[in-house]
Amino acid sequence: MSTADIVAVGSGHNGLVAAAYLAAAGKKVLVLERNAWFGGGVVSRELTLPGFRHDQHSMSHIFIQANPLLKDDELGLRSRYGLEYIFPDVPMMSLFEDGSTLKLYRDRERSAAEIAKFSARDAEAFRRLSLQAAAWLPLIASSLYVPPAPVGATHAMLDSSREGRELWRVIQMSSHDLLCEQFEHERVRMHFARVAGENLVSPDEKATALGVYAFLGFLEACGFGVARGGAGRLTDALIACIRDHGGQVVANADVARIKIVNGRATGVETVDGRTYAAKDAVIGAIHPHLLGSMIDGMDSRARAAAEATQISDAACITVHAALSEPLRFRTRDLVDAVMVEMLPDSYETLRRDFDELRYGQFMPYPLLGLGSLSQFDASRVPAGKAIMHLWDYVPYRRPDGRSWDDTKQQYADRMLDHLSKFVANIPGCLLQIHVDSPVDMERTSPSFRRGDLHGISTASYQSGAHRPTPELGQYMVPGIDRFYLVGPFQHPGGGVFGAGRATAMKMFEALGMDFKQDKHGG
Ligand SMILES: Cc1cc2nc3c(=O)[nH]c(=O)nc-3n(C[C@H](O)[C@H](O)[C@H](O)COP(=O)(O)OP(=O)(O)OC[C@H]3O[C@@H](n4cnc5c(N)ncnc54)[C@H](O)[C@@H]3O)c2cc1C
Repeated sequence: MSTADIVAVGSGHNGLVAAAYLAAAGKKVLVLERNAWFGGGVVSRELTLPGFRHDQHSMSHIFIQANPLLKDDELGLRSRYGLEYIFPDVPMMSLFEDGSTLKLYRDRERSAAEIAKFSARDAEAFRRLSLQAAAWLPLIASSLYVPPAPVGATHAMLDSSREGRELWRVIQMSSHDLLCEQFEHERVRMHFARVAGENLVSPDEKATALGVYAFLGFLEACGFGVARGGAGRLTDALIACIRDHGGQVVANADVARIKIVNGRATGVETVDGRTYAAKDAVIGAIHPHLLGSMIDGMDSRARAAAEATQISDAACITVHAALSEPLRFRTRDLVDAVMVEMLPDSYETLRRDFDELRYGQFMPYPLLGLGSLSQFDASRVPAGKAIMHLWDYVPYRRPDGRSWDDTKQQYADRMLDHLSKFVANIPGCLLQIHVDSPVDMERTSPSFRRGDLHGISTASYQSGAHRPTPELGQYMVPGIDRFYLVGPFQHPGGGVFGAGRATAMKMFEALGMDFKQDKHGG
């Protein structure tokens, strides 16, 4: 049996972030990963041909940019461990079937000029929305990298001022209602509605409107970070930091059970019978549906609530392609965005697409999103070549009852066929593709259960201090001492936030350490 101060289950970026803070503060850390590779949703792999590095899951790192982990380089990931981000001028753009485009720049006025192509009135409305987003950003950002504030107290605080009540109103609204209130042109509405779609929800879902402000605020203030060399460079930097502080990160170690002695986590046991003791604490990237089966004696009500957490209706399917040359879009406009959204000509089509998913059906119109990051970072591909990351939303259970393993290639063909309406050299430039169905997604990380890339849905009753449930919202399991949770199913949710920092804060407190002082090593 090997012993460490801290044992972390899972090498996703959140577990690594928590472990890295503890390692930097002097703890002996051991990270165990079930896969043969590290990083969970933050990984770059040669999925197609040698020399083509694909970001298998996350490709654009947005919300982590305002995290003091990177903003203040708290662990030296930028200055000491080689992490570098590129921030293209155009984080996101929409491409409509008729060849028209709408770009969002980091610069407010350039975006307003894009919107004015459709409506001068909407360009004015956009300026107001953008200013409001910038005004709310510090408040939003201040809540993302620390343990969540109590839900009731937050609501009471918002209810005590005019501005707070306006924020509360927006928090409860659907994106659709907000967009109809703000904008008159349906293309402008659709462009921003697609943002909600990136969160796996219909724009008609209530309590999604604040996402529009958060997205725009981050887009303008931070940009969409493209890690030089691939998204996995974030994982590499975190591992380098842990190892530099004497920690270990071990692959092919599938943890089956958290060992609990007298109500305290004391170590873990792997599926193949290896045991690891943790003197101080255990960190677990464990989905709420799986917690009860890995922790003996978990409180039965807490377990039932965890197992009842809801997963989104929209599962993700992705196609990664090695390309013989860069994509040639049919539009005359330059396509130079990190994220490119292929949209229908009617907003209603997009809204009805999400309705179909709710009924377990396929979307009639594929809602393709695309990134071709070799455009910004040529180090990911052999000279002159390119890569593409294409995604769409599907039901986890196919309505025809067939398995995704048997049909994913066929669905990828549908996606590529649709893409060829927007891109002239598809399929000609395809050298090799790799398809991840929702089932593959779940296999690469149990966090992406049923293909939900946020682990559980982002519904308001599963958010903030109630994410995933009120009992588990503070990264701890009731009745179990020294066991701490990380994952997209915890606050602040799915996405690359570096939220393991909040888990580390909880652990520092429990271990009698001062986060402010000790996080850099004292
Ligand atoms: C297709 C896709 C695209 C995405 N795109 C973006 C994007 O562009 N931008 C963005 O911000 N976010 C994106 N996301 C979301 C983002 O990738 C995730 O929210 C984030 O990576 C979650 O990080 P995590 O560390 O919490 O969990 P994970 O990355 O899931 O890591 C958990 C790790 O723990 C391991 N593990 C779990 N159980 C065990 C066990 N019992 N024993 C050992 N190891 C275990 C897993 O194998 C995994 O490596 C995307 C996700 C997907 C699926």
